Amino acid sequence: YADLAMYRAKESGRNNYQFFTPAMNIKAARRLLQQEELAAALDADRFVLHYQPKVDLETEKVLGVEAFVRWQHPEKGLVSAQQFIHLAEETGLIIRLGEMALRQACIQIQALERAGFEDLKVAVNVSVKQVMDAGFLDLFRQVITETGVYPERLELEMPAELLNEDPRHLRELLGALHDLGVCLILDDFGTGACSLATLQQLPLDAVKIDHCFIRDIPYNVSATDVASAVIALARKLHLTVVAEGVETPQQLSFLKGAGCAQCQGNLFSYPLDEDALIGFLVRQYERSLIS
Ligand code: C2E
Ligand code: MG
Ligand code: MG
Ligand code: MG
Repeated sequence: YADLAMYRAKESGRNNYQFFTPAMNIKAARRLLQQEELAAALDADRFVLHYQPKVDLETEKVLGVEAFVRWQHPEKGLVSAQQFIHLAEETGLIIRLGEMALRQACIQIQALERAGFEDLKVAVNVSVKQVMDAGFLDLFRQVITETGVYPERLELEMPAELLNEDPRHLRELLGALHDLGVCLILDDFGTGACSLATLQQLPLDAVKIDHCFIRDIPYNVSATDVASAVIALARKLHLTVVAEGVETPQQLSFLKGAGCAQCQGNLFSYPLDEDALIGFLVRQYERSLIS
């Protein structure tokens, strides 16, 4: 019997092996293909930034825009960041993609200036891998110098998971960026585990309340309570509070009441391409002259 059991174990082991390998191969092959496609798209310059206005809740003025990367895919059309940023992270292509986005954002700051919008900020999203890359600070300095953009016009939106990295290293890195004058925003605030002790020690300017807390306001009582608490906490830490994914007037009035300083979302505007952004800003400006 012992021999028989062993035989079965081997057999089933072998079966597992045989069953598993082709599936793994397909997955790996697909990944490799996507990876190559992404790298080729970077070589072919197929990525553009779209910009979503950020609005000051007190004055209702546009303070700046957030840049989102988009892939202009020959068959799929415009592909949003959510659909490929993970792959870019996993493969390390995010370093090149991130450099492109930073450069593009600086070029956009110059274009806004030429159009007469001299004090709008442009926020660039960065990923953990990108910020933790040994060359990030030098690259940042280099792009600023090459484009001649004032760092004060740039904001960096960093994912909340960044707070899981070594606090000493973060203090040094973010301190250096902050000293350059760039505005530092913690994105996706309230999601995941985040050390409040670390948070307090970092030179952050603002936190962005994650979309998931905004979505169910005001219909879901617990979502609304959590949103209030997150906003109150951020304010206690002397951080500017920004809300993203604002889609309804009800959400807007709740956020105003809760002490949120800035909002963005489809209620104000979808992310826009360069030309549409200038059009939007010009219309806003004209409206401000009338009212
Ligand atoms: P995020 O920075 O938290 O951006 C918010 C996402 O919500 C964006 O999706 C935006 O297009 C979308 N959004 C904006 N307003 C609304 C709204 O009112 N309702 C809803 N339902 N959604 C709204 P997107 O562009 O697909 O980006 C997803 C994530 O990918 C971003 O999250 C950011 O973490 C990352 N990402 C985007 N661009 C870049 C980039 O250039 N570099 C890096 N490293 N990451 C980026
Ligand atoms: Mg963001
Ligand atoms: Mg966010
Ligand atoms: Mg988010």
